[in-house]
Amino acid sequence: MKDKYYRERKLWNEKIEAMPRDQLRALQLDRLKKQVRYNYEHSPVYRKKMDEVGARPEDIRSFEDFSRIPLMTKDEHRRYQEESIERYGNPYVLLACAPREKIVRINSTSGTTGTPTLYTLTQHDVDVVNEMHARKYWRAGIRPGHVMLQALSLSMFTGGLPLSQGIMHLGACVVPVGVEGGSRRVLDFIRLTAPDAIIATPSFGQYLIEKCPELTGKDAESLGIKCFFCAGEPGGGNPEVRKVLAEGFGAKVFDHTGGGHAFHGISCDEPPEQFSGMHFVSEDHCLLELVDPRTKEPVKIEDGATGEMVFTFLDWEGGPFMRYALGDILQVHTKPCACGMPGIRFKIIGRADDMLIVKGVNVYPEAIKGAILKFAPEVTGHFRIILDKPGPLVTPPLRIRLEYGKGIGVQELSDLEQRLISYFKEELRISPKFEWVGPGAIPREKKKTRYVEIEQ
Ligand SMILES: [Zn+2]
Repeated sequence: MKDKYYRERKLWNEKIEAMPRDQLRALQLDRLKKQVRYNYEHSPVYRKKMDEVGARPEDIRSFEDFSRIPLMTKDEHRRYQEESIERYGNPYVLLACAPREKIVRINSTSGTTGTPTLYTLTQHDVDVVNEMHARKYWRAGIRPGHVMLQALSLSMFTGGLPLSQGIMHLGACVVPVGVEGGSRRVLDFIRLTAPDAIIATPSFGQYLIEKCPELTGKDAESLGIKCFFCAGEPGGGNPEVRKVLAEGFGAKVFDHTGGGHAFHGISCDEPPEQFSGMHFVSEDHCLLELVDPRTKEPVKIEDGATGEMVFTFLDWEGGPFMRYALGDILQVHTKPCACGMPGIRFKIIGRADDMLIVKGVNVYPEAIKGAILKFAPEVTGHFRIILDKPGPLVTPPLRIRLEYGKGIGVQELSDLEQRLISYFKEELRISPKFEWVGPGAIPREKKKTRYVEIEQ
């Protein structure tokens, strides 16, 4: 009976994941105060950052007090790593707060945009990461007895070993085949191990769907994959990409994030057109703040709020990040989700570098895309933002070239345009100038679409 309950319960850790919001905030604040003191006492970098603004650990009594501590950027993180290696012969001294003998794992980012940044973990931190992976996959319906094939890069990248360990922690079976061996090897192992789920980048998933008939004589749907977990790329939040993967594999598609650190989320079963992002599953170990990407002033977390994400690890020993700003722009939703699962949701809607400013309003290409897609099939969803010079400052009105949908007559466009204009005014607080073109007129790009075009 106990076993049946165990398998059927919806959440891995009901006590924490379904905790009422005020209790969770109290837990966060309690952990935050302890963490700030710990960071101050153990890391020269954090001590310096706090001393700069004259803040002592005992001064941090509220989230507002905490938001006075200066942010840390990825570039700064890299600098401290290098400085630590130069001065002390290892990367730990300046940021890692735990003594060397307690550090049991180092993960890193993929390093595609510069020197990899390191995450140092103690056994306690490894346990936290394992717990977060278990929470995510459990919500997606993975249980002991399921087989998950891991087709991401298995090297230092945080989607490698940490993920394998997290899957094992849940009690499911992992096949860490890795993407390095190529699509043929991945397909071989799918045949040999009959996985229920696969974890891969959305682009590798699409490639497998294309290659499968040629390499196996059958289409991807015959592989028997029930869940496809997107990782490592933003494509999993794109309704079109999700549709291709869902149809190609005949599988449920989940987007998820979080590798070897404390910020973790997974999407739910919402229909693609209502996709409002990933449920944040690790709030007990990660404090999320939003700031204005220009002024770095705090942005209140409420339904629909947008800002640059800043995170702080809580109850973390190894290399706890404090007010770390990665340059990702998030939109959060705090209203209950239709799926019934708890937790606020977040959507990564772009990079701070992609931001445009129209009459003082911050606008992101991904947010424009989301707004346009609400009008499909009256529009195809393909569009370009036309600027006369590089951003972020835009001379209003913002020009958006977009395709009307198949079967839409030219006489219907002015009504459609009026509805678009009022939607944009209400949701994005901008009044763009729309330029209509027929379906198929905007070039399709196979890889990452650039939404902005400079036209003199
Ligand atoms: Zn949901």
